[in-house]
Amino acid sequence: MRFMRFEKDGHVGIAVDAGHGWHARLDDDAAFPGDVGLIAMLAPGNRDVLVEHLHKGAAVDMDHVRFLPPCARPGKIVCLGLNYRDHAREFDSPPPKYPTLFGRFASSLIGHGAPLVRPRVSDKFDYEGELVLVIGRSGRHITQQDALDHVFGYGVFNDASIRDYQLRTTQWTMGKNFDGTGAFGPWLVTADELPPGAAGLALETRLNGEVVQQASTSDMIFDVAQTIAIVSEAMTLDAGDMIVMGTPSGVGYARKPPLYMKPGDVCEVSIERIATLRNTVVQEA
Ligand code: MG
Repeated sequence: MRFMRFEKDGHVGIAVDAGHGWHARLDDDAAFPGDVGLIAMLAPGNRDVLVEHLHKGAAVDMDHVRFLPPCARPGKIVCLGLNYRDHAREFDSPPPKYPTLFGRFASSLIGHGAPLVRPRVSDKFDYEGELVLVIGRSGRHITQQDALDHVFGYGVFNDASIRDYQLRTTQWTMGKNFDGTGAFGPWLVTADELPPGAAGLALETRLNGEVVQQASTSDMIFDVAQTIAIVSEAMTLDAGDMIVMGTPSGVGYARKPPLYMKPGDVCEVSIERIATLRNTVVQEA
């Protein structure tokens, strides 16, 4: 099953594709769920009722909607850095023995098709194609064995980074949180439709059609189950929280000469069996 969130004619909609095309309810519907993250929070029985209700809604013409990030206001967005060996190497870092974790704030999120914004203050605007997951069942001290039962679904993320700001200090928060840099979408695919942990899926990033990153999600150093176990040692993972799983090698910063995104560029991230996320770069006014 797939879920997406969109805007059309001034209304926000949530759509489901349960195998028969996209059907949606809009925000003028009494049972409008508001956010895909809120669907993730429902107990399975209630979720089934809501899915049925969405499924009876009007068909959606996907060519005439504005995509929004599936989850608008996740409680947490936990991101992994340097989670692929080749990427750690291109950053002159040894493979981490413990995941490099940083936070993104929801204010940086944009949907599929929305502009990635190169800020006024920097031209070091880099792409990072990544797998993202959304938690469906809350938990603390989740074991690796149980971890995948806590995942609601998977999507595609572009963890676009302002490299000079990111690398001014050892803490990456600033360079990872500019407005208009966290591209997420176009939809979430529920975990039951994918291999366990979304492992073994081909991930590819293209800049203006040229392949710049190519890997398998199995190349991650810390996989989805390990990551959930490690993060939940410290914090409760709530339904609707997101974990962004890190990017493989090929980022623009590590190239000689560097390859940064500029206004007019089109960046696409594809993950097999999930989706292609496509965004055009614009300059901040
Ligand atoms: Mg990243």
